[in-house]
Amino acid sequence: MAKRLWIAFAIFFLCAGASSAQDAKTVLQAAQKAMGDVTSIQYSGTGHIYSFGQAWTPNAVWPSTNLTSYTKTIDYSAKSAQEDYVHSEPNPMVKGGGRPFAGDERQVSFVSGQNAWDMPGKAPVPQLGAAAERQLQIWLTPHGFLKGAMENNATAKKEAAGTVVSFETGKFKVVGVIDARNMVTKTETWLPNPVLGDMLVETTFPGYKDFNGVKFPAMIVQKQGGQAVLELAVSSVKSNPGLSVSVPDSVKTATAPPIKVQSQKIGEGIWFVAGGSHNSMVVEFPTYITVIEGPLGEGRSLAVIAEAKKLVPNKPVKYLINTHSHFDHSGGVRTYVAEGATIITQEINVPFYQKAWAAPRTLAPDNLSKGAKEANFLPVKEKYVLSEGNQTLEIFHENGSMHNAGMLIVYFPKEKILEEADDYTPDLPELAAPSGIRPAVFMANLMKQIQTLKLDVATVAPMHGIVVPFSELQKAASAGTGKG
Ligand SMILES: [Zn+2]
Repeated sequence: MAKRLWIAFAIFFLCAGASSAQDAKTVLQAAQKAMGDVTSIQYSGTGHIYSFGQAWTPNAVWPSTNLTSYTKTIDYSAKSAQEDYVHSEPNPMVKGGGRPFAGDERQVSFVSGQNAWDMPGKAPVPQLGAAAERQLQIWLTPHGFLKGAMENNATAKKEAAGTVVSFETGKFKVVGVIDARNMVTKTETWLPNPVLGDMLVETTFPGYKDFNGVKFPAMIVQKQGGQAVLELAVSSVKSNPGLSVSVPDSVKTATAPPIKVQSQKIGEGIWFVAGGSHNSMVVEFPTYITVIEGPLGEGRSLAVIAEAKKLVPNKPVKYLINTHSHFDHSGGVRTYVAEGATIITQEINVPFYQKAWAAPRTLAPDNLSKGAKEANFLPVKEKYVLSEGNQTLEIFHENGSMHNAGMLIVYFPKEKILEEADDYTPDLPELAAPSGIRPAVFMANLMKQIQTLKLDVATVAPMHGIVVPFSELQKAASAGTGKG
């Protein structure tokens, strides 16, 4: 036993020699000298920013918007950062769920240690779930990477592209490449994503420039889930500008609000389940339950499933109807697979989900990754009807949607209720406009579908906002505002 242990130790040290901390230190020091050592940095530029998870088809690029101004300030020693940018409305020909839907949108976000918040106006809005990613983004910048590697006992390994340096911070792994000229050319990490699992975040720095004595990339490209989320042409860099941020008290004391579920009966055996930014519907059939929409993530799904079982006791959730593959509408679908439900979705989504759901989920395991269930799909091409006893619902493919190529809508012929996602969002007064104004083309296409399919709609049940009479949609459509 002791001898085996000794051999194991010997092998460990031999391997460690090939990927050593000492080599890493030498490489990092040389890079720090070549790139310029800074305690804080500010860089600005213009380019493109993309709406992650909002592609028109499952494997298409994220929809692009113009980044008209961008400034990021990072204080490496204080582990704080401020990002401030303005992006403009996407070109109307850009298909998908790209934001903003109307006019320019400014985003100001902060991180300081374990606290993250946004400043959409004068009052800070805590972003409890964002601190870990925003911290990681600090270590993904060229100078930040060197500092993170120095602080976290990095190891180094020679490869064709240069020296590959790796370190761990918390549960996250960070890997970077330093080339023969001692410049960081690439950094990588993995973030948990409800749809994609452990998702690669890849940042490349193709080409460095000298900005008043500090070397900084002239271009920054970040990809998430294989597609660009940011392309920044850097126009100016300030070294050691400092960053004075103090965490607002309301952010320090913020706690995650409990997941709220509010159900409203809108027909015989039909409930509209709201309470958050995204809605679902629960439908009772004689021997089973069907849920429409599994948005956001597992937390929301578990709350909606619990509500469904309260509304309809002692029946299994047999089907989950997924309206479209945008990540905010599909992040909770896996929970329904773990629950034993069959997933009804437009046929173009099936190979995408099969591939995405096979990815490792070590960073944020969910019920499905902990169990051993296979996903069952019921792919819809143009129409599918679920009917048992007195309950019937009709699922249609919304042809011609500019928002998503595989969009499904659901119609209840007896109750004349139409479910729709993202084409029309009637205002929810007490929620700060979860989805805002929608492009008029989305609504016009929905109206066209209703006419083509000859649906006799009386009530609209939207996946954002509130249940309204059909006349509200007609009014909004003729005004062309996309808003109720
Ligand atoms: Zn969408």
